[in-house]
Amino acid sequence: MRYVEPVFRPPSEAHSFILQATIGCSWNHCTYCDMYRSKQFSVRPLDAILADVHETAAGWGEHIRKVFVADGDPLVMELDHWLPILEACREGFPHLRRVSTYATARNILDKTVTELRRLREEGLSLLYIGPESGDDITSKRIAKGADFADHVEAARRCHAAGITLSAIFLTGAGGIERSREHAAGSARLATAMNPRYLSLLTLTVLPDTPMGKLLERGRFRLPDVAGLLEEIRIFVDKARPEAAIFRTNHASNYLPLEGRLPRDRERIVATIDAALSGRIPLKPEHHRGL
Ligand code: SF4
Repeated sequence: MRYVEPVFRPPSEAHSFILQATIGCSWNHCTYCDMYRSKQFSVRPLDAILADVHETAAGWGEHIRKVFVADGDPLVMELDHWLPILEACREGFPHLRRVSTYATARNILDKTVTELRRLREEGLSLLYIGPESGDDITSKRIAKGADFADHVEAARRCHAAGITLSAIFLTGAGGIERSREHAAGSARLATAMNPRYLSLLTLTVLPDTPMGKLLERGRFRLPDVAGLLEEIRIFVDKARPEAAIFRTNHASNYLPLEGRLPRDRERIVATIDAALSGRIPLKPEHHRGL
């Protein structure tokens, strides 16, 4: 099986079989993202996807516990693609525990609760979604393609369908100008979406992106490390999901944090305060990744 590179996956899918069902991202407009800029979006032919499943099943079927469907937003696929893929995974991987994928709010809103429930029943149990910000001005500036209300409705449909959500927010996305609004709005959106998993990534502005051009022209300014930590502090302090597993274990972050929100809020805030006052070392810049 050959992948069309580059291929990305969340940190928690490190041991999953990565099944490339789509190439690139059907949206591909977010101003900070260069993940799939080199790729023209397409859905791979169903027989090619199924051939990858069968080939992997023949060699490794007994060992596969998790499948992550790539690339950028495979939930965009219609059910006539998804259902045979899920069926092939169930048949080929007898110990399969979960199938997950990246999704945008648009992908979810293009499906009914009935369709989402069908996907859940056939095995798609976890969606990674990146609202990045709960501040609508920031969302518009980064061309996320969906606002606060869209994300709340997308989450509602997933909950109604029984699909678990992992929501990702992007520290720094509002720049210095919207830093506090971005952090507080993101906390509000995390509360409203009430995901099972909640993570923060830290924005790295890449030169060949629209955001990189804005930075070059001085029209976007990224908060310094203390400002970024302050955003995380605001987020953790204000977010009120029912029982979310919170992590900042992505390579882009300066300070790895984990715990449950709201249960561990005070402990996590105390850790951030210790980092802000220099009592806990931060990850050196050269150890950060995208
Ligand atoms: S939806 Fe995701 S993959 Fe697509 S452009 Fe935005 S951040 Fe990148």
